[in-house]
Amino acid sequence: MQALVKTERGVGHLELMEVPVPQIAADEVLIRVRACGICGSDLKIYDDQHPYTAPVTIGHEFSGEIIELGAAVSGWSLGDRVVSEQHTRACGRCRQCLTGNAFACASKRAPGYFENGAFTEMIKIPAWLLHRIPARLGYVEAAFSEPCAVAAHGMLERTGIFPEDIVLVLGCGPIGLAAARMAQVVGASKVIITGVDRDEKARLPMARRLGIDAVVNTTKSDLHELVMDITGGQGVDVVVELSGAASAISQAFRLARRLGKVCILGQPPVDEMTIPYRDALFRALTVSFSYSSKYTSWERVLSLFERDMLRPTDFITHVMPLTDWEHGFDLSRTGDAVKVVLTM
Ligand SMILES: [Zn+2]
Ligand SMILES: [Zn+2]
Repeated sequence: MQALVKTERGVGHLELMEVPVPQIAADEVLIRVRACGICGSDLKIYDDQHPYTAPVTIGHEFSGEIIELGAAVSGWSLGDRVVSEQHTRACGRCRQCLTGNAFACASKRAPGYFENGAFTEMIKIPAWLLHRIPARLGYVEAAFSEPCAVAAHGMLERTGIFPEDIVLVLGCGPIGLAAARMAQVVGASKVIITGVDRDEKARLPMARRLGIDAVVNTTKSDLHELVMDITGGQGVDVVVELSGAASAISQAFRLARRLGKVCILGQPPVDEMTIPYRDALFRALTVSFSYSSKYTSWERVLSLFERDMLRPTDFITHVMPLTDWEHGFDLSRTGDAVKVVLTM
């Protein structure tokens, strides 16, 4: 079968090539991949700026159909339409696993980074990671579950948004846009989202179309002034940091109100960041770092999809076959696309 493989370490080294069909273990299913979204971390693997082991088939935001069941798998049938959590090789026995936080298990190795991923025709996945796709959703739309689960996990589950909160989302990539919409859906009184000049091509216009209350190009407008205007000089209840940019991360702490909350989801390219530490301390901010997602994040998102509260089609701007992956990667990198989904 064909697969998009990172063949060795270094920049580039991404090739569409023939690979063997995976052999499943007793607790696994074989999935025919129907769609897989291009993620920012796929671009980072291309650039050699994200952890992975080579050679590895990349791609992790996928949906598909079960075509083979391991001997010990129950509760699933051939033909079931599924999406999957990312916690392959989680041990199932450590404190994190036993408390429903397998995403943080020390032995977890996610598909698309350390295990063969989904930019291919078939993928094997442990059955306990699967979630059923709601009937109203197609495979392309369902492939948007994973980035939404990441947003739901960080923003709704680890940080928490209450009705009437004013929420500021820094960064307008696919997860930022989905987070902003989700904040509206769960009752935020006002949602503010930011971007820069390159986001004027597709992402900031999309935020305006989605009806986000304030859409700010921080290259052109003073975000601090605008936030203080909107909040009567208090700052916002919740800041969701999704830009990964040093300047935005420092600003995230300054734009939260006293006793406000900061949710850190964006992944900066460096190990250490400077934040206004004393200022954050004496305003008693609550800070939640977050990555990946858990069972409940997926169920929340699939429920929002099923009830049409969150529409993947609002965010997916391009759909193309796997063979056009280079074009898809280019569109994602330049910001001409919001979410690109490759079909198999
Ligand atoms: Zn992703
Ligand atoms: Zn574990």
